[in-house]
Amino acid sequence: MSNIALAIHGGAGTITPASMTPELEKAYKAALSHALDAGYQVLEAGGSALDAVELAVVRLEDSPLFNAGKGSVFTKDGKHEMDAAIMCGKTMQAGAVAGVRSIRNPIQLTRAILEHSDHVFMSGYGAEEFARKYDISFEPEEYFYDAHRYKQWREVRDTDVFILDHTHDRKFGTVGAVALDAEGNLGAATSTGGMTNKNYNRIGDTPIIGAGTYANNATCAISCTGHGEFFIRAVVAYDISCLMEYKGYTLQEACEQVVLDKLVKFGGEGGLIAVDKVGNIALPFNSEGMYRGCRASGKEALVAIYK
Ligand code: ASP
Repeated sequence: MSNIALAIHGGAGTITPASMTPELEKAYKAALSHALDAGYQVLEAGGSALDAVELAVVRLEDSPLFNAGKGSVFTKDGKHEMDAAIMCGKTMQAGAVAGVRSIRNPIQLTRAILEHSDHVFMSGYGAEEFARKYDISFEPEEYFYDAHRYKQWREVRDTDVFILDHTHDRKFGTVGAVALDAEGNLGAATSTGGMTNKNYNRIGDTPIIGAGTYANNATCAISCTGHGEFFIRAVVAYDISCLMEYKGYTLQEACEQVVLDKLVKFGGEGGLIAVDKVGNIALPFNSEGMYRGCRASGKEALVAIYK
C-alpha cells in the first residue's frame, strides 16, 4: 500500500499543564484520538483524503470541547456564527462557508458546495438555503450553547475585546484535518466558531482558501488555527505551498519559515497542521500549545497538547 497520512488539530493558544486538570487532559486526548482513528480508518480502507478529513472534522465538531460546531464561541451579539472550508488537492476544488448559524456540521456543508456548486464560498442565508437543498442537518440555538463559552463571553461582551478561544482560563479551539490518501491525493478541512466576542459577521482565516485552509497535490495540504486576522494578512497556508513550489523548500522548512519566523515577527499567534505529497507531516505552532494528533503508514499514532 502507498503511504497514507493524517493530521488533526483542535486549536492552538496558551495551553499549559498548569491550566489543565488531569480529567480535562484525558478528555481532550480521548476526543482527539477518536477523530484521528475515524479519519485514519477511512484512509486504511482505501478511502479518499477528502472523506478522511471531513469525517475527522465532523467528530471534532460534535465534541463540545472544541470551538467548532457544538460548543462554538459567542459573537458580540451573543450568537454563534461558524466558518469552515474544505479543499481537494487533486482537483483544486474547494467549498467554504462563512457566518452560518444553525448548521450542525459546517464541514458537511462545505463538502456539498465542493461537490454540487459552481461557487466556492457562500455565506448567511444563501448558504443555509443551499444546505436545506442537500439535506444538511440543522440544530436549534441551544444545541450550540456551552456554559463555559457563555461565561467566557460574559466577561468581555461589553468591551471591544475579542479573544482567541484558547487564551483564556480553559483552552479550546478551531478544528482541522489534513490527509494524504493511498492514491496520492491530498485534502484539507478546517471548521471554527471563530473568536469569542468577535463582531457579528466577522470572518476569520478558516474559510479563506489560501489563508486558513489549502490543498494542492503538487505541494501540501494545510489547516491553520490562531489569530485569524494575522493569518489572513500573511496568507499563511498558500505561503507554505509557494515556498515548496517555487523555492524547493521541504514541508518542514516551509512551515518553520512561516509559522516560527514570519508570523512571529508579524505578531500572529497560532499554528497549523500540514502533510506533503509523500506523507511527511509537520505540526508547527508558535503558541504555548496546540491540540494535535497524527498518524502515518508504519508509524505510531501521536496525540499531544503541549510543546
Ligand atoms: N483562526 C480562527 C479565527 O480567527 C480562530 C482559531 O483558530 O481558534 O477565526
